[in-house]
Amino acid sequence: MSKRTTDKRLKALNSVVSSSVKHFKPPENLTVSEWADKYRRLSPENSAEAGPWRTTRTPYLREIMDAFTDPKVRRLVVVASSQVGKTEVELNMLGYLIDSDPGPALFVLPTVDVAQDFSKRRISAMIRDCKRLKRKVAESKSRDGNNTVLKKQFPGGMLTITGANSPSSLASIPARYVFGDERDRWPLSAGAEGDPWGLAEARTTTFYNSKMVEVSTPTIKGASAIEASFEIGTRERWCYQCPDCGEYHNITFSDIKFDFDTTKVKGKKNYKVNSVWWACPSCGCVSTENQIKKQPAKWIAENPDAYNQGVRSFWINAFASPWMPWERIVLKFLQAKDDPHRLKVVFNTILGELWEERGDLEDEDAMLARREEYPAELPDNVLVLTCGVDTQDNRIEYEVVGHGHYGETWGIKKGIIMGRPDNPEVWERLDDVIDRTYRYKDGKGLKISMTCIDSGGHYTQEVYEVCRARQNKRVFAIKGKGGDGIPYTAPPNKVPIRENKRITCWLYTLGVDSGKSQIMAALKVQEPGPKYCHFPRGEERGYDTLFFNGLLSERLVLKRTRGRDRWAWEKIPGHNRNEALDCRNYAMAAFRILSPDLEAVEKRLAERPEAKAKKVKQPTARPKMKSSNVYDDW
Ligand SMILES: [Zn+2]
Repeated sequence: MSKRTTDKRLKALNSVVSSSVKHFKPPENLTVSEWADKYRRLSPENSAEAGPWRTTRTPYLREIMDAFTDPKVRRLVVVASSQVGKTEVELNMLGYLIDSDPGPALFVLPTVDVAQDFSKRRISAMIRDCKRLKRKVAESKSRDGNNTVLKKQFPGGMLTITGANSPSSLASIPARYVFGDERDRWPLSAGAEGDPWGLAEARTTTFYNSKMVEVSTPTIKGASAIEASFEIGTRERWCYQCPDCGEYHNITFSDIKFDFDTTKVKGKKNYKVNSVWWACPSCGCVSTENQIKKQPAKWIAENPDAYNQGVRSFWINAFASPWMPWERIVLKFLQAKDDPHRLKVVFNTILGELWEERGDLEDEDAMLARREEYPAELPDNVLVLTCGVDTQDNRIEYEVVGHGHYGETWGIKKGIIMGRPDNPEVWERLDDVIDRTYRYKDGKGLKISMTCIDSGGHYTQEVYEVCRARQNKRVFAIKGKGGDGIPYTAPPNKVPIRENKRITCWLYTLGVDSGKSQIMAALKVQEPGPKYCHFPRGEERGYDTLFFNGLLSERLVLKRTRGRDRWAWEKIPGHNRNEALDCRNYAMAAFRILSPDLEAVEKRLAERPEAKAKKVKQPTARPKMKSSNVYDDW
């Protein structure tokens, strides 16, 4: 091997490149996948398959990698679940550019801390284990300003690794290559400088041959940065040929059928997946994982014209991964399906799918059908009652919500009181709601522990006065504040009533967006138990079409204002009344502010004299789950 001569030739070429404007030809005309097959070694601390890289192991990565060496492609977008090798793809591109086509490069991760870690664990390990790179990149030494954890110099270029939260590093260096890793986890703004991707992109303007690579697991539909980038590209998906009809299809979870057993050990569900098949959407025939993975497969573009604009975008999920058997994917889904937060993680990181804050199941009709007959005004599992009140110019609306263990809730009563909020009679009628005793089946009673009244309308002063007069009943004024990152509840402030600074009332500021996310997540839970939302049947209760239309009136979208992308809740067309969602939000906040010790409350309730010696437990209406179940209609 004439390494030295190759090196010399490289050096000569590099100096030619830096002084010439011609397109650089890699010395051996290798593509990234060829380079990786020849030189890249997987590091033992980061890979179960340490040793030489083999593209044949993950054939779906070949075309993604080689798009990097295609001079026509200026921008590459990769949406991928974890366990498919997306980080290795980025490392291979990095290794290739350092070795074969050097230039200034910027590698941006969500934060500087993540960048430090990534550089030490992944980039340094790759350089250490790849002889060609080791020779070119000097060891990281703190005294040597050219090579540190976040800066790697090599002949003909410099790699800067940084975080999207660091505006100074994003705005200072010109870069021919820009990598954006985990794009959906980036802050929406780099300090006060605005969109970090925009800042990074601006670094490339002086290079005619610049290349931008964006990689991420997807997050929330409509609010995902990588989704937006994927859309403008070629929109390619990895498709297998159906062994029965010959059509090519991308394997998605919706076409996966499976059979499983459930056992309960100490109240905890255990799942055993017996078999998994893929059902072809064209012919309906089923195939196993083994059959599918032996089939011919290729990338199919939905928007091939984008190639002429130089943007290729790829979307890949764990069903193609050699490290993630389908059985394990299904098991992960089963273990997460009852908890929307875990389910979201499975959707994003394994199924490689966007998560919809409002799933299809939660349309008005489905919610109406879900209502149940309560055995009494208060089901036995309700331990605390709170009330949320929304004020409008001609009426007030309220909801009484029951709370049980682990975030399980029961709608108790939704009502409207007509009249202007400056009319005392309106509030007297609300007193009837607040002062009432709500009854369990055995005759025991419960009163509302806390009420939150919206002060944000046109009657702020009236609401303050109403609340001040009812402080002993824990009736408090609230003000909703929209926006990302505002905590749901915070300690209250004293606000003066009218001009008199000495007469004050408590005001709670609520991060209403955080409340909305929690409500939407809870509405997704499909089985009674933790976080499940119960709603009663019966006209007098008020849970009608209008209520559910209001409860499901908003969705999370990505909005661009003054050049910045922000997540914002937006009314869904046709859902113009959102009072039901606001009332529920304020009632949930009241419970959050109270944060009662539910164990103690339960004990107290049971010990009350009018309570029967033994509490009769009401069985909740629970759909019967067969021990073995083909679960394909979720
Ligand atoms: Zn078929």
